Amino acid sequence: MEDPLEPARARMVEEQIVARGVSDQSVLRAFRTVPRHEFVPEEYRRDAYRDGPLPIGNGQTISQPYMVASMTEAARVEPGNRILEIGTGSGYQAAILAELGAFVFTVERLRLLSNLAQEVLDSLGYTQIRFLVADGTLGWQAEAPFDAVVVTAGAPHLPEPLLDQLADGGRLVIPIEDGFSQILHVVTKTEGEIHEERKERCTFVPLIGEFGWDR
Ligand code: SAH
Repeated sequence: MEDPLEPARARMVEEQIVARGVSDQSVLRAFRTVPRHEFVPEEYRRDAYRDGPLPIGNGQTISQPYMVASMTEAARVEPGNRILEIGTGSGYQAAILAELGAFVFTVERLRLLSNLAQEVLDSLGYTQIRFLVADGTLGWQAEAPFDAVVVTAGAPHLPEPLLDQLADGGRLVIPIEDGFSQILHVVTKTEGEIHEERKERCTFVPLIGEFGWDR
C-alpha cells in the first residue's frame, strides 16, 4: 500500500542521517523502509520524522532517528546475526535491526512498553524478534552469545554481563555517563581482547538495573 509519509521519511534519511555521515547503504535502506510513525503515540504521528526524540509514555522516549542510525551502523549488523537490544521502548530500533536481516532479542524492564512494542512489530509483520521483560543489564544468558549488543539507555559504566555475552568479534554499542550527558561507546571483543572506542555525545534515559543505575 502507498504510504503517504514515505517522502517525509526519505527526507529524514537524507537531511538527518546521511547529512551527518551515516553511509552504510543497508542501514539507510532500513531507515527508508521502517514506518517510524507507527512507533509513536497517536498525538505525535505528524512529528514522527522530525529530528529528535519523542515521548512514548512511562517517562520513556523513542530515540532521535540519527542516533538510532549511528548506533545501528556501529553495530555492523549482518543478515543472520543474533543481536541483543537492551531497552525495547517503542520497538523502533528492533524493527530496524530486523529489517537488516538480524534475529533480534530485545529486553525491556517495563512490561507495558514491551507489550505495546510487540503489538506494533507483530502488526508490521516482523517475526524474527523475541521479547523479554527483565533487567537487561543482566543480558539474556539463555540466548547468548550475540554478534552485537545495542544498549538504548544510558549506563553508569559497562555492564559486565553484556560484555560476557558478546561472541568473538562481537560489538557492544552503549551510551556511558560522562558528566552532564553520555558518550556513545563501541566496545569490540576479539579473541578475548577488549577494544573501546568513544564516539559522539548523546542523551538517553537512564539504564536502571543491577549493573546500571539504582533507580
Ligand atoms: N530502543 C528504544 C528506545 C527506548 S528508550 C526505541 O527504539 O524506541 C530506553 C528504554 O530502556 C526505556 O523503555 C526503558 O524503560 C528501558 N530500560 C531502562 N533500563 C533498562 C534495563 N535495565 N533493562 C531493560 N530495559 C531498560
